[in-house]
Amino acid sequence: MLQLQNYINGQLVAPVAGTYLPTIEPATGQVYAEIPDSSPADVARAVTAAEAALPTWRMLPAEERGRLLVRIAELLERDLELLAQAESLDNGKPVSLARTVDIPRAASNFAFFGTAAQHFASETHFQEGVALNYTVRHPLGVVGCISPWNLPLYLFTWKIAPALAAGCCVVAKPSELTPYTAFLLSNLCIEAGLPAGVLNIVHGTGPSAGQAIVEHPAIKAISFTGGTATGAHIARTAAPLFKKLSLELGGKNPNIIFADCNLAEAVRTSLRSSFSNQGQICLCGSRIFIERPVYEVFKTEFLQGVAGLTIGDPQEEGTQQGAVVSEAHLRKVLGYIELAHQEGGTLLAGGQRIELKGRCAGGYFLQPTVFEGLRPDCRVNQEEIFGPVVTLTPFDTEEEVLAWANSTEYGLAATVWTSNLTRAHRVAHALHSGIVWINTWMHRDLRTPFGGMKNSGVGREGGLEALRFFTEPQSITLKL
Ligand code: NAD
Repeated sequence: MLQLQNYINGQLVAPVAGTYLPTIEPATGQVYAEIPDSSPADVARAVTAAEAALPTWRMLPAEERGRLLVRIAELLERDLELLAQAESLDNGKPVSLARTVDIPRAASNFAFFGTAAQHFASETHFQEGVALNYTVRHPLGVVGCISPWNLPLYLFTWKIAPALAAGCCVVAKPSELTPYTAFLLSNLCIEAGLPAGVLNIVHGTGPSAGQAIVEHPAIKAISFTGGTATGAHIARTAAPLFKKLSLELGGKNPNIIFADCNLAEAVRTSLRSSFSNQGQICLCGSRIFIERPVYEVFKTEFLQGVAGLTIGDPQEEGTQQGAVVSEAHLRKVLGYIELAHQEGGTLLAGGQRIELKGRCAGGYFLQPTVFEGLRPDCRVNQEEIFGPVVTLTPFDTEEEVLAWANSTEYGLAATVWTSNLTRAHRVAHALHSGIVWINTWMHRDLRTPFGGMKNSGVGREGGLEALRFFTEPQSITLKL
């Protein structure tokens, strides 16, 4: 059986305690590999290696650091097919999605921050005849990066690349549910010639390896993406240690469809924003609010689209819907479907587990599911489900839909569909949401600030925001 290893001090190494955890292929329910069940001792080794590498790495010219990151990007592109297959196996996502979204984006993350480091500038404030004030941005030091399972390599590299570009050394942990592409990245870092200790990848569970990263006194910052409850726990642990924190957490995103929009485009894109990656993208819209005059036509066309989705073996080319990530997650999503019935919802599509035949007989497949008739304040419309389940709700006025859209504890992303430019901006500004897409979804420019309001997180990733996060500003004043 495939056995993954930690990547510490430039080498692939076994965990100190010698213990491993099974990892399961969601499409089959079968164990396909084992991963180190790392302990605080492994994290301590990784931190020691990172501290030793730091003085040289932080002093390297940004151009040289950038060259290494761009080299890793090239290797990710070279191995795109292998990595896409691995991501699909590990996560249950369609291989076509991994090939067109996850892996290209992982390569872009390295290429983007490899070059961004050379464009990063700090401020100067000149007081005429009195003083010259300038800001130096020092790398923070050794930092921790912890990522979730839904976009494994995509989100892992979104943290690691800016940290390395900023001159930090990194101890990183991928989700224990999806470790495979992070392991393959270790090999590519070795091949690229990344100096030993600059990046260390420790596999294992949140309570063991993850907690040890958050608690380690030499780790200066934690960049975390995952659930809101885990984020709160990390914040409680890290606050007394005065660590800098970037928390990218859950969401319950609204799609607002006004009657004057391009409805065909809104339907097509809403299908994607509802069910891409089996609804397991933090940016997926799960509450679809439709202006009443177009409610019935939207509903009919949307349900036709749902009926046409191909669900099957994620490794097959034509598959649009693969498996959800784990049996526990499948049960959680089924629990919300049951709750939607209890809360008085009308099931319009799906609602059941799917039992496939052959290779995928034991896999965690779920029908894309649509409900209507649920109150905006019910639990199904307030809590993050993070699966292929959406609700449709008609609305009559802009005020009403804004109140509903803003009524959850989350504020990550929203989409607005309208051809009225004035309304588009007005509604966007009124949404309590870190990201608003108008007439589009998941359109990303890596320079834009990325992150959520309210319980969706603290801080922003992306572009200069990420480089600022991983650096410590120092203000220096020279009297003239
Ligand atoms: P999770 O919070 O269970 O786990 C995320 C990571 O944290 C994993 O690597 C896990 O091992 C680790 N972890 C768990 N306990 C820890 C602890 N005590 N200390 C340190 N690390 C610990 O989340 P998940 O189930 O893997 O991911 C799904 C969640 O992620 C959803 O809520 C989703 O909305 C969110 N998410 C948010 C964004 C965003 O950008 N805002 C992006 C993707 C996913």
